[in-house]
Amino acid sequence: MNFFDKLREYRKTIADIENSVYGNKQDYLEIYERNLELEKEIAARTQELNIANKRMLTLQHIWEMMNSSRPLESVLETIVNSLQGELGYLHSTILRKQTDEKGDYMSVIAEANNSIIKRVNTIIQIPMQMRRLNYFENSFYAESLNEKKIVTVKNIAEALKSIIPDIREDVFNKVMGGMRSKLLIVIPLYTRNKPFGLFCVFSSRDELADSETDFLTIFAQQIEMAITIADLFQEVREQAITDGLTGLYNRRYFEEYISKEVTRSQRQNQPFSVIGIDLDFLKKINDEYGHAYGDLAIKTVADVLKNNARSVDIAARMGGEEFNILLPGIDSQGAATAAERIRRAIEEKELDTIGHITASIGVATFLEHSDNLEDLLELTDQAMYQSKRQGRNRVTIAKPITETSWQEVAVNTFLDILSRHNVPIENNLLEDLTSKLTTIKQQSEMPKEILYSVADMLIKTYNPLHESGGVKSKILLASSLAKRFDLSKDEVDKLRIATLLYDIGNLMLPKEILQKSAPLTEEEKLHIQEHPIIAARDILKPISYIQDIIPIVEHHHENWDGSGYPGKISKDEIPLTSQIILIVDAYFALTEHRPYRPKLSPVEALIEIKKDTGKKWSEALVQEFVTLIEHDLN
Ligand code: GH3
Ligand code: MG
Repeated sequence: MNFFDKLREYRKTIADIENSVYGNKQDYLEIYERNLELEKEIAARTQELNIANKRMLTLQHIWEMMNSSRPLESVLETIVNSLQGELGYLHSTILRKQTDEKGDYMSVIAEANNSIIKRVNTIIQIPMQMRRLNYFENSFYAESLNEKKIVTVKNIAEALKSIIPDIREDVFNKVMGGMRSKLLIVIPLYTRNKPFGLFCVFSSRDELADSETDFLTIFAQQIEMAITIADLFQEVREQAITDGLTGLYNRRYFEEYISKEVTRSQRQNQPFSVIGIDLDFLKKINDEYGHAYGDLAIKTVADVLKNNARSVDIAARMGGEEFNILLPGIDSQGAATAAERIRRAIEEKELDTIGHITASIGVATFLEHSDNLEDLLELTDQAMYQSKRQGRNRVTIAKPITETSWQEVAVNTFLDILSRHNVPIENNLLEDLTSKLTTIKQQSEMPKEILYSVADMLIKTYNPLHESGGVKSKILLASSLAKRFDLSKDEVDKLRIATLLYDIGNLMLPKEILQKSAPLTEEEKLHIQEHPIIAARDILKPISYIQDIIPIVEHHHENWDGSGYPGKISKDEIPLTSQIILIVDAYFALTEHRPYRPKLSPVEALIEIKKDTGKKWSEALVQEFVTLIEHDLN
């Protein structure tokens, strides 16, 4: 039965109850015709009461109150307040009978809000609502509840004292001193055939008239109905937000809650963390021991989560064997500690037949790793999967999303280049590179090493002298240099990608020219000089998301004095990032072996580079570059 079916059923129940109330009213009207003045007044009041109750019991009204944080209490308070001052009733209160490890007791769950109770609460200091009230067999409270009958008590002092015996005599006398009530009427309350508690009414008259009994009975029925509806509502609400197997919150509730948490977090600039937990090898447990044991494993994890969650944490079963905990106000360090505690607690449990189980855990923190909810959940998931890949039963903290993004762009760019049909690479290599790149994509923390090795392999196809590891060193050097110029992270990331790609145009050039050991003819030189343009125009242009990297690649052979190519632009017209690539590339070329010259030492290479100051690169660039290399050499 879904939520709405349930709701329809409850609506019908409410209608039935309402009908029975009106049935009783008919009986009651007959009785009242036979009665005197009091009855007349009661009739008038009953009319009002019924109107009031009808209004109150419209689903709309109840619904609104149900949505409050104390649904039952607020409905009941409305009801008892409506009785206040009527027909000589001075005060009324609803007591709920409860049981805990110390035994039976009663507590006030609703009371009329009036000067009487205010006065009493001021005298006794701890308000009635907060007290644990005595309930014992043989008392008239028990008599009323057990025998389902209205009991009246004239000795109000004794009645009160018996439920709060710990009160001092003088204090109690003070309470009784101002008491105008002459009669306490105790009416039993039953909901769904179970004893619930007592409706206590303080009357200014010293006898209970027959007709009053009916009146109060109807009134009590209203209370019972409200309690029933509130209980049903509470049940429905709990079913709607909790997971049946584990009693944890369900995915829907988690998603609803976390989106509110995002708003709160942004407003207060306070982080929150999400711990993602996935049970390891559940399929194996199911296969080996049966589904019931799989369920036991799931419930065990759920219990650990419940025991480890603070009252403000939201622990949810997201589905199958996946759980999330939301930790408001907790940063990644705190969440990591909590996650580790959970991991250990799961590992330590000894389960019937199955033995030990483990879980893989990921942690991500809002405002720290991402300020976007979708990304945050994605990061949690990625971190969790990394725990799986690294052998399970461990905790992984997410990496901020920006740290990996340039690598992601690079991987996608390479995949896009390779998937185009006109790239002249042998099939075997193409497959190998593609599968390497695809592997990287599936991993949460983009392993840079694989990316670098793919770039190295690709460069080797057009430059057999290229040394493995070269790309990584170039990227490190280029980004260090860029940071000396205070380039933004975004610019540095673009530079990194450009450093992977700047010679990619060579892919399209004839191998004979590229690999020729004899000096090149003028015509061949011109041909080679086309590679930046080929890279930009033929290879990179079609890839939409790297358009702002194209100018860096296109101009990586421009010289400071305008003598370079292809644009022959100079000075500040050249992107700084292109100049960085030019100088880094030159340095690596000089320190590598070439057929026509020996490899130079770093110091010798720097001497050569300095010679081209003002020609190929600016003085500022050379200065920073030299400082950087010398710093590394020392
Ligand atoms: P891994 O360590 O990689 O997470 O392995 P795994 O076997 O736990 O994960 P996988 O995703 O391969 O399989 C999950 C299994 O969990 C498959 C599904 O039948 C089972 N499962 C999902 N929900 C329940 C459930 O409520 N009860 C039980 N007993 N099994 C479930
Ligand atoms: Mg699993």
